[in-house]
Amino acid sequence: MEKRQEPLSRFKRRIYMLIMFLGLVGCISGSAIGELTGVTSPFIRGIFISVGSFTILAIWLIHSQKLPLRIVEETLYAVPSAALVAVLVYALYLPASSIQAQSALVGVYLWLPAAYTVIFLIFEGRQAVVRAVGLYLFVFVVSLPMVLSIPGLERALATLGSTMLVQFYLSSAVFIVFLFFVARLKALLRETQMDAEEMRHLAQTDPLTGIYNRRHIEQSLEQEMERCRRYDLPLSLVIFDIDDFKALNDAFGHDAGDAVLVEMARLTGGQLRSSDYFGRWGGEEFIIVTPETSTGSAHRLADRLRTTFEEGEFGTAGNVAASFGVAVFQPGDSGTILVKRADMALYRAKTLGKNRVELDTAAT
Ligand code: GH3
Ligand code: MG
Ligand code: MG
Repeated sequence: MEKRQEPLSRFKRRIYMLIMFLGLVGCISGSAIGELTGVTSPFIRGIFISVGSFTILAIWLIHSQKLPLRIVEETLYAVPSAALVAVLVYALYLPASSIQAQSALVGVYLWLPAAYTVIFLIFEGRQAVVRAVGLYLFVFVVSLPMVLSIPGLERALATLGSTMLVQFYLSSAVFIVFLFFVARLKALLRETQMDAEEMRHLAQTDPLTGIYNRRHIEQSLEQEMERCRRYDLPLSLVIFDIDDFKALNDAFGHDAGDAVLVEMARLTGGQLRSSDYFGRWGGEEFIIVTPETSTGSAHRLADRLRTTFEEGEFGTAGNVAASFGVAVFQPGDSGTILVKRADMALYRAKTLGKNRVELDTAAT
């Protein structure tokens, strides 16, 4: 899970920086247009400068990872929302020229949907809904006196018209509902992906030891054989089987036997390369597919494992040994034939006295 978390937070930081960058571009171009057309009042100029500076600071903070992502996210939501609300209050209630109030109001209405989108982008489920609806209600309450035409506010009303405000409230509400459904869909998709990932993991894992199961090894063997055939690379197979496991079970109990299987899988895993495939082939039989490995190296690996087990401690069971069969892939081999040849070598190791490694006779 943690491995998954890291790239996600890196991705989030990138997205937030992109949002900030777009916000900065919007801020600069908006203020430039305002200045050129002469509709920017000192108050709005102050807002532009504050938001612009905040954006630059935020980009730096996100990039340098100086702040935890959680705080960055709260700030990304709070500062632009506060700026929009401040402009709204200014346009509705503070003395400003008609054209200044109008341009400020239109600005707020045009940018609020972007604020809702950012909220749903940053936050999940309930958190996003609470913030978006909170902002919506705040804007609603702040502008309500104007919609109700409280005396003294006719100026702003005249500039924009209350029908547009009503439409704005309705469209914003619809927008939030849509965003909510998009977020739900996104969450469902992620859950489905995680379920599929979990299922895939379960389908290829042996529940007791946590290593690959036989089915996955069979698939991997076919794939690796195909690859080694194509690039003319060696491929070896090691099969090993615990010696006298039945007697061990009888002497120490089935649970102690299980613990031996788990420990043996752990010890083996520690000796393998990341390109090797290691799985449980049967009850007390394990298999290792080692691509790009010659007979000699596979033989050395098997013998190293044999010594590791011999010297290992297996709890109450004490010393446990295993016998090994090694086979190398020959042109024309199928997976079944290759396993069969390794199995025959293993059988020979058993008949020749156990706790030993035998090579398939076809190996040179
Ligand atoms: P050999 O040295 O010839 O391999 O003899 P062995 O006793 O190891 O082999 P045998 O095939 O006679 O017995 C294998 C035993 O492995 C029998 C079975 O009860 C036990 N076994 C198979 N799967 C499990 C398991 O998951 N847990 C435990 N505890 N025992 C298992
Ligand atoms: Mg066996
Ligand atoms: Mg056995």
